[in-house]
Amino acid sequence: MCEHYGWTRIASGELLRAAAAAGTPAGVEAKAFLDAGRLVPDVVIEQLVLERMAQPDCQTGVVLDGFPRTVAQATALDAALAQRRQGVDLALLLEVESAVLMERLAGRLTCRSCAATYHPRLLPPAQEGVCDRCGGSLYVRDDDQAEIVRARHAVYEQETEPLLAYYAHDARLQRESGHGAVDEVWERVRRVIDAAGRRGPAVNGLEKERSDESTRVGQTAL
Ligand SMILES: [Zn+2]
Repeated sequence: MCEHYGWTRIASGELLRAAAAAGTPAGVEAKAFLDAGRLVPDVVIEQLVLERMAQPDCQTGVVLDGFPRTVAQATALDAALAQRRQGVDLALLLEVESAVLMERLAGRLTCRSCAATYHPRLLPPAQEGVCDRCGGSLYVRDDDQAEIVRARHAVYEQETEPLLAYYAHDARLQRESGHGAVDEVWERVRRVIDAAGRRGPAVNGLEKERSDESTRVGQTAL
């Protein structure tokens, strides 16, 4: 999506893990929540995301992945972006049945270097344990272990239902099926984004931001 449209992807989970690895105060705090499969407090994530969005590579558009996750975060995001004369154009919900989602997420492989994701069965790398994109080594993140995925998904469903209503209220929400092969899902997503671009002023336009809110427990569907 980002390659096609020239946008930058901001994944709140990756921002958090980077901060955790760097040992910043917010990062240390975040790590305790991540390790337990719990959601990190709003204010910590908001700060990280907004700082990231202010950087030069984000000015043509961004895909927010895993954020906002609650109505409080969405409200704070809209307020902060309005001050910058930016906004969220589109909230995209990729709907995937729970059982399918569990299969996709549990055991998912992540590249240590570039954070690309793979799956041993659904999206295997060309060479086992090695990232196709950058040659980095692949591992199963703590929060992609099956038990933690289940716990996180329960929290996610509870907290994100109101978020869907928030974006549906002013017609920014688009629902799309996340079932099928990666290419098929991408084709559907592209149509939704292009249609949204024809409707509104923002897509080829200026300083607008985009939000991707997906059933992948806040992080993208595979
Ligand atoms: Zn990689």
